[in-house]
Amino acid sequence: MEPFVLYSKNHPYLHLAQWESTFPHLVVGMSTRTEENRNYALHVGNDPEQVITNRQGLAKSLSFPFESWTCGEQVHQDHIELVTSADRGKGRETRDSAFACTDGLITDESDILLASFYADCVPLFFYSPDLDMIGVAHAGWKGTAANIGVSMIKKFLKLGADKKQILAAIGPSIGNCCYEVDDRVMEPLYQLLPKAFEESIFIPTTQGHYRLDLKKANQHLLLSIGLAHEQILVSNRCTQCEETLFFSHRREAANAGRMVAFIGKKRSKE
Ligand SMILES: [Zn+2]
Repeated sequence: MEPFVLYSKNHPYLHLAQWESTFPHLVVGMSTRTEENRNYALHVGNDPEQVITNRQGLAKSLSFPFESWTCGEQVHQDHIELVTSADRGKGRETRDSAFACTDGLITDESDILLASFYADCVPLFFYSPDLDMIGVAHAGWKGTAANIGVSMIKKFLKLGADKKQILAAIGPSIGNCCYEVDDRVMEPLYQLLPKAFEESIFIPTTQGHYRLDLKKANQHLLLSIGLAHEQILVSNRCTQCEETLFFSHRREAANAGRMVAFIGKKRSKE
């Protein structure tokens, strides 16, 4: 069953139904483009005021204050920041105020919405109930090759999380139906995933080209550090196939809008 379920409000979004029903203080999911082509990122050429209006509208739909949106300046690397209430709101109105060069965000504090932005890359969500700690990480092929998912788990462990309790969810992103890559992409991932061909993470097409299952690559990397299958949810949604729901960098090129992937803890838990 698809873990990311469409929830229709004024600003429709996908929510991670299983986590939200098990842990009712969590707000976790991903925006959709909708008919209005709602873009949530400040770096893709839209009027910033419109982007902020979109963010405020979604914040209202989520019943999570816009002031709590906290963002990294994503650069397809593996740097992770531990977010505290002093950082609340970084990057919500300007990209300059976001955490510089940061693709992973973690916090155990309530009333902070960790927000990151996507066109085809893979959003990784994390929750460790023992510490009540949340995280989100941006994993395109470069972030995946930098092993940001495993870096997130290591950070959770360092902060005291029990590996058996950490939950991960791999969100909507480009599927292997649509994602053909060449040797330049295959080689660094193959270094990390030596069974990638046996596991159908890569399926050869023409000479030097492969269809890449980036969600499965991330799933196998999380399994490799010792998470069990039951701890990992994987979306079946493809951002390129589902044009009415998603922007796609492959389909729409550099100025494609961006969805926002988010996770936060409502204040009421405290
Ligand atoms: Zn597809």
